[in-house]
Amino acid sequence: MNLNTQILIAAIAGVGLGLLLTSYPQADFAQTTLYVLGILSSIFIGLLKMLLIPLIFSSIVVGVSNLQAGGEFGRVWKITALSCVTTTTLALILGISCAHLFDVGKGVDITLFQSAMQNHQTPDTLTPSSFLTNFIQNTLINPFKAFSEGNVLAVVVFALFLGVALVKGGERFNTVRQLSQQFFEMMMMLVSWVMKLAPLGIFALLAKLIATEDLSVLSRLAEFAFVVTGTTIFHGLVVLPTLLWIFGKMNPLTFFRGARAALVTAFATSSSSATMPLSMRCAQENLGVRPQTAGFVIPLGTQLNMDGTALYEAAAALFIANLMGLDLSLTQQFIVCLTAMIASLGAPGIPSAGMVTMIMVLQSVGLPAEAIAILLPIDRLLDTVRTVVNVQGDMMISVVVDRYAKQTEIEPS
Ligand code: ASP
Repeated sequence: MNLNTQILIAAIAGVGLGLLLTSYPQADFAQTTLYVLGILSSIFIGLLKMLLIPLIFSSIVVGVSNLQAGGEFGRVWKITALSCVTTTTLALILGISCAHLFDVGKGVDITLFQSAMQNHQTPDTLTPSSFLTNFIQNTLINPFKAFSEGNVLAVVVFALFLGVALVKGGERFNTVRQLSQQFFEMMMMLVSWVMKLAPLGIFALLAKLIATEDLSVLSRLAEFAFVVTGTTIFHGLVVLPTLLWIFGKMNPLTFFRGARAALVTAFATSSSSATMPLSMRCAQENLGVRPQTAGFVIPLGTQLNMDGTALYEAAAALFIANLMGLDLSLTQQFIVCLTAMIASLGAPGIPSAGMVTMIMVLQSVGLPAEAIAILLPIDRLLDTVRTVVNVQGDMMISVVVDRYAKQTEIEPS
């Protein structure tokens, strides 16, 4: 049985076991099973996190140096940025339009949420300018500190610089170049070992998620949850595949087949960072993306390109405004979109990261930050789908970028 099939079966079995456990929450076996599931998921997530920083570092250094050497860097960089901005903008427009179309939050009784909001401790104010200052201060730091703290963005920036230096240094740095290349290949070998554990890890993660999340709150916020999830799925099943088909010349079915392992892992872990090692492997091995492109686009996209998160934040802001009985003007909606775009750039690829940056989006148009208390109970569940779309976007962009980069190689301009 191939890995994809195993993962799919594991996911279904995990959901089944989770539902079974919710039916017998007090039983002894439920507690023991949850404990074992917790250990299994920690092992799987722990292994992925262990590989994350060395993999991001080596793949960007190697990716950039190969791109630079082939003269593709400028073009790849531009297409990547353009693709990220385009897909995120489409996600934002979709989020806002669907929130309007379905009037999410209108007619819902706000008093239901009043006590949750009053008891909620709001973190410090987050404004776009303070966010930007933090962003810079956390990015340009001692690389060793960044490695030890797992600061992905800072590692990305340092690796970009090193990659460029490797090329500019030419022959002189051959030893370091070879060392980086071999180190990267070793990391990929470790990834392939961890992938063997993916079915078990996904099984445990999904069973635990279903068993421990309170599915009943979903019904109170059902309409919003339904609209956001539906819109996110629409973006993932229609918008992104259409772009892939037009610009990447790839059949969406081929894409989904090749990307399946990473997408299911994204769903189960709700973390694009933890999924990154698998996204990289799927892009290279199943989707035919060349290592230098995947090595550059996937780590960068994991950190900066989050369509699902942007869509969610824009729709959620409108939902909260409707709940409060406020009509946001066109300018305010534009501000929401802009802030949601910045927020999705800065959100780390970890579970519920979007919730933290959501505060910034709410505050940008004067909505109360306490309102996230309303969204918190359903966030872990909605996070599953938006993370899948975040990861899908990165892999899709790597296909498109690779195709254009290859073309330049064939017909140099
Ligand atoms: N969990 C998401 C991710 O890892 C981020 C978010 O919370 O929106 O991509």
